Amino acid sequence: MNSETNDRALLEVEGLKKWFPMTAGFLSRSRGQLKAVDGLSFEIRKGETFGLVGESGCGKSTLARVILRLLDPTAGTVRFDGQAVTGLGRAGVRKLRRHMQIIFQDPYSSLNPRMTIGEIIEEPMVIYRVADKAGRAAKVRDLLQLIGLDKSYVRRYPHELSGGQRQRVSIARALALNPRFIVCDEPVSALDVSIRSQILNLLAESQDRFGLTYLFVSHDLSVVRHISDRVGVMYLGKLIEVAGKDELYEHPLHPYTLALLSAIPVPDPEAEVKRIILEGDVPSPIDPPAGCRFRTRCRQAMGRCAVEEPELREVGSGHRVACHLYSS
Ligand code: SF4
Repeated sequence: MNSETNDRALLEVEGLKKWFPMTAGFLSRSRGQLKAVDGLSFEIRKGETFGLVGESGCGKSTLARVILRLLDPTAGTVRFDGQAVTGLGRAGVRKLRRHMQIIFQDPYSSLNPRMTIGEIIEEPMVIYRVADKAGRAAKVRDLLQLIGLDKSYVRRYPHELSGGQRQRVSIARALALNPRFIVCDEPVSALDVSIRSQILNLLAESQDRFGLTYLFVSHDLSVVRHISDRVGVMYLGKLIEVAGKDELYEHPLHPYTLALLSAIPVPDPEAEVKRIILEGDVPSPIDPPAGCRFRTRCRQAMGRCAVEEPELREVGSGHRVACHLYSS
């Protein structure tokens, strides 16, 4: 969290849905809708890092792409600094994209192999006609210095760089237009454990220096704990728990969050950890269970869970949970 963090929301998401039509066979018959994101509401405050966790396939990356309008929503709204992102035309999205950037998981495929590092970092400034050639070259040099690469890297190509160096270049490219909000989509998952903390530190330093707000998407709960101020947990297209980082990791409430946290490896072999093994498969997002989506794997499920979908409710000091165990 940087010093400019405050309670004002930079990003507000309300009732957001992204469904994908499913077809099958020669005649492309409809098989229903894949409900990747199915009615999410939350906000991200200025200057904070909001961590979004959940197993792969829970819809978190789709959510990130809908927020940035890389995908169009099926329903719901996203507001960025009070302005509705959903509903904007192409020109409006292009204008807004300057302030909202993304860092992808895979630094190997997200950089154009035919462009030099200098061209890659300069490209967003060329597209948005920022500064003249000399001004852009100076900015590229500044960004290379910021990410800890020598200025000679300007003429190198992505294949000459290590995975960590490539991800540094992705960060520099994302910073080139002085954005206010960056989606970090599993930015360290493809990297060696030994260099993950360097990239996380670079993200934290950049946030502090430029007053950035992050949405940090990851399946890795340890990484999310390290970098986030608040955390949201997703399951099958729904947000099922949101709380401040310490509150969530020390006092988790939702049975799914409890199971996820119990699976984090503990460095002390003597420490007694009660692992909660989740039984059953994750249900299909095409036909999710009625009522609570987690009920088919929940040991505490009761009759009400099959008929009534729990709402995400405040249970105290910014801690929200969607579970009938905590509602009257
Ligand atoms: Fe389990 Fe019911 Fe809570 Fe869902 S609502 S997590 S099924 S107790």
